[in-house]
Formats: sequence, structure tokens, C-alpha cells
Amino acid sequence: MDKVLLNIDYTNDFVAKDGALTCGEPGQLLEDFMVSITEQFINNGDLVVFSIDKHSEKDEFHPESKLFPPHNIEETDGRLLYGELNEVYQANKNSDNVIWQDKTRYSAFIGTDLELKLCERGIKEIHIVGVCTDICILHTAIDAYNKGFDIIVYEAGVASFSQVGHEWALDHFENSLGAEVIRLQG
Ligand code: ZN
Repeated sequence: MDKVLLNIDYTNDFVAKDGALTCGEPGQLLEDFMVSITEQFINNGDLVVFSIDKHSEKDEFHPESKLFPPHNIEETDGRLLYGELNEVYQANKNSDNVIWQDKTRYSAFIGTDLELKLCERGIKEIHIVGVCTDICILHTAIDAYNKGFDIIVYEAGVASFSQVGHEWALDHFENSLGAEVIRLQG
């Protein structure tokens, strides 16, 4: 177990057609890749962390309240993983190498014990998939960079409602965070 797959915010609210804050089709197109890479990490015995946004129904103090409509509200279907990825999680959630972490900010490191979980296991290499490329993936990658982790991002595994933001973030990962971006073929 020397690497982790950070599986970020691939939930109904962020991906499904009727999701509260959906990326739409670009997000839905990731489904097969999300399933296959998640199964690959689980089956190899590597760590998989599902890092998932969690909000309360009416939280006027939360900074996102002024920016976005309510999303990923606790105890709602909007917080369930999208499509077949939910089945993969349900089938493996009791495995030693599968962890679910609620987060309340963009970065998976803020307000969670993610860094402790990685350090305990001697993990230095973070592979990131999920949505949105230029929000939660970006903020998580920046924190990973500042903490000295090696970062791998898969173009086939990230999406955003903003294509411009998506492209910009992929370049930023490579050029400013020293990440390896595994690009789509062709
Ligand atoms: Zn949120």
C-alpha cells in the first residue's frame, strides 16, 4: 500500500442530470473510468479514499452558501456516489483499504484527518479523480503539493461544468504543482 486513489465528489448532485450542482455530461462520461480505476486500486490492495462533500440543510455561515445552490446535503440521495461507482463502493466499503471521509470544504485535507491516514501508511503518492477539476480537485491538489506529496491526475477521471476551467486546471497541475497528468490518448 504505497499509493492512494482520492475519489472526490463523484456524487449524484455533482454528476447526475438532475443533480443540484451538476457538471452534466462531462461528469457522466467519467463513469466507466471511475469504476475501473477504483476497482483496480481496491483489487491491488492500494488505499482508496472517497472524499465526499457534506453540507447541512441551512448553514448560513458556510462560505459556499453565498456561491452555490444547496448541494450534497446530509442524508439525501444527492450525496450518494453516481451510477455504478456506488455499487463498487457498497461492495467494498468494509475492506481495510477503503475509507469514506466526509469533507465540508473544497480540499480533501481541510477539516479531515486525510493527511494522518496517509502518513500512518507511509503513502507519498496521491492519484486524484472526480469533480470538479477546477474546484475540489484543484484545491486538494494544491494542498497535496504544499504537503510534499507526489500527485498524479487522470484527464479521463476529472471533469468540470467549465471546460475553460478544466483545461486551465490540467495545465496548472502540470506546470505549477509538478503533477503528472495522464492525458487522454489521441
Ligand atoms: Zn460543497
